[in-house]
Amino acid sequence: MTNLYYLLKPAIPWAIRIRIRRLIANRLRRQFSGSWPILSSAAQPPEGWPGWPNGKQLAFVVTHDVEGARGLGLCRKLAELDKALGVRAAFNFVPEGEYRVPDTLRADLEREGFEVAVHDLHHDGTLYRSSQHFHMQARKINQYVQKWEASGFRAGFMFHNLEWLHDLDVLYDASTFDTDPFEPQPDGVGTIFPFWVQGSDSKGYVELPCTLPQDSTMFVLFKETTIDLWVKKIDWVASHGGMVLVNVHPDYISFDGKPNASEYPVHLYEQLLKYVVTRYGDVCWYALPREIAAFAAQVKPRLTPSTRSSEH
Ligand SMILES: [Zn+2]
Repeated sequence: MTNLYYLLKPAIPWAIRIRIRRLIANRLRRQFSGSWPILSSAAQPPEGWPGWPNGKQLAFVVTHDVEGARGLGLCRKLAELDKALGVRAAFNFVPEGEYRVPDTLRADLEREGFEVAVHDLHHDGTLYRSSQHFHMQARKINQYVQKWEASGFRAGFMFHNLEWLHDLDVLYDASTFDTDPFEPQPDGVGTIFPFWVQGSDSKGYVELPCTLPQDSTMFVLFKETTIDLWVKKIDWVASHGGMVLVNVHPDYISFDGKPNASEYPVHLYEQLLKYVVTRYGDVCWYALPREIAAFAAQVKPRLTPSTRSSEH
């Protein structure tokens, strides 16, 4: 199903694709109402989890996957908005997709305290086609990791294989989620905490699951008109001392008050940041993904059969 969908994807107009996705998603939403957006068992911390540094109650992490040229053109505007509300995010750029990220943009974002990470390679859904293909692409991805001095990676479409990811020279991967039956590869990792993935040698990496529904799921797929679902999930994650990690795409944000069918008004994202900052203030660690990963790499919290759960 997934492979067929991505094979046919370029041939089907977007308006029809989204209608098909909505039909499927609405059915899944009813089916998974007991495990999305909240999967109760995901509140169980991984083995060895020491709590957040400096006694913070929760962590809040924002990532911006930049999908296409439209998103690229809105990065500076989005960074200004983050900054105005006191938040720094990771911008995840596609190295060889439909745009090339200018060196000046990367440098400017980093100077302002943002993080730059690698998002897939071509972003065409083929990265995980086979282990051999992944291995070859990983060499190229590692070149961008090195050139951009990036610490992290996220695959397009949240495809993931935690074993294969050992091929990447990164501190963290962020291509998983606690629970999200609407992703093309819907197996969640069943935790709202970062965790360590040990390799066969002494090396390993940190996995950072997304723990809020993506903006595209909220506002493009389900056409939510409020951030109520986000608020509910944030409060639940906070009450269990977890990590709120949200992915928000510049590509889908409308800054001009006239969103088209694949966009949503910027005030919804603004409300999210304002809610977290106002509600949680100093008890929250506002961190870049690489900062969370550096902390988790020291303490190496592990998912074990007793802490690992799944919605399936
Ligand atoms: Zn993407």
